[in-house]
Amino acid sequence: MSRVAYVNGRYVPHRSARVHVEDRGYQFADGIYEVVAVRHGHLVDEIPHLDRLDRSLGEMRLAAPMGRAPLRHAMREVIRRNRVADGIVYLQVSRGVAPRGHAFPKGIAPSVVITAKRLAPNYAQMEKGIAIITLPDIRWKRRDIKTVNLTANVLAKQQALDAGAYDAWLVDEDGMISEGTASNAWIVTKGRELITHTPDYRILNGITRVAVRGMAEKEGYTFVERPFSKAEALSAAEAFITGTTSWVTPVIAIDGKPVGDGKAGPLTRALQRLYAAHADAP
Ligand code: PLP
Repeated sequence: MSRVAYVNGRYVPHRSARVHVEDRGYQFADGIYEVVAVRHGHLVDEIPHLDRLDRSLGEMRLAAPMGRAPLRHAMREVIRRNRVADGIVYLQVSRGVAPRGHAFPKGIAPSVVITAKRLAPNYAQMEKGIAIITLPDIRWKRRDIKTVNLTANVLAKQQALDAGAYDAWLVDEDGMISEGTASNAWIVTKGRELITHTPDYRILNGITRVAVRGMAEKEGYTFVERPFSKAEALSAAEAFITGTTSWVTPVIAIDGKPVGDGKAGPLTRALQRLYAAHADAP
């Protein structure tokens, strides 16, 4: 089966899908994106993802390229044409194509790209858990906007892989863990307090994070939103990440040191089950 992409209003073969060399997303990372999970053919938390897309557009002073109804239709059409039951849909909006220059060009239309691909949930990894390392967070100070500028994230991810870990948790100037390279970071203290970073400019407010927070609150778990330090992470009873493709994945080692007994903890497992049921629900 050959894949199909949506590019500026047209469905085109994925292998020949193109944007112009002077697209501002390509030259300046002047664009934003969303990744939505597809589960049994439905979009998981579609509305929160589209709300975050609108927020990113607003913060970047980008006009919405199309209405929400046609956008939802195009996403579904890409999913259908690629026959994706379990996977992801990727949506990117850049400021458009113009002769290179920093100022916003006048009178250009944004570029819109939508792709979809099959991707099964990584159950083995969710079962076993992951090892992470900590690295300095060298990103800009508007991490709440989901821009396509992932330079620092890419470098950190590769550095983690090169060190034999799966990912990196990024440590800001104050010694606090902000988040992972493509996920939010959580710990459970020995006193069974669930902690994840405040949703401010220092992190991307993950849609999975918000869903899991709702579950934790509903279950009556003691839950605090605040930055936590690397030292706290190293002495945590449990740790995990949340993200569109990682769902709830246990973190079993940080900087080579086991978290708790080096296995996924009970609170992590409980939230994992709740999130899996949430993703499965149409
Ligand atoms: N933080 C960063 C830097 C991310 O790139 C992502 C997702 O790609 C997340 C957190 C998790 O967000 P979500 O749960 O919406 O996938």
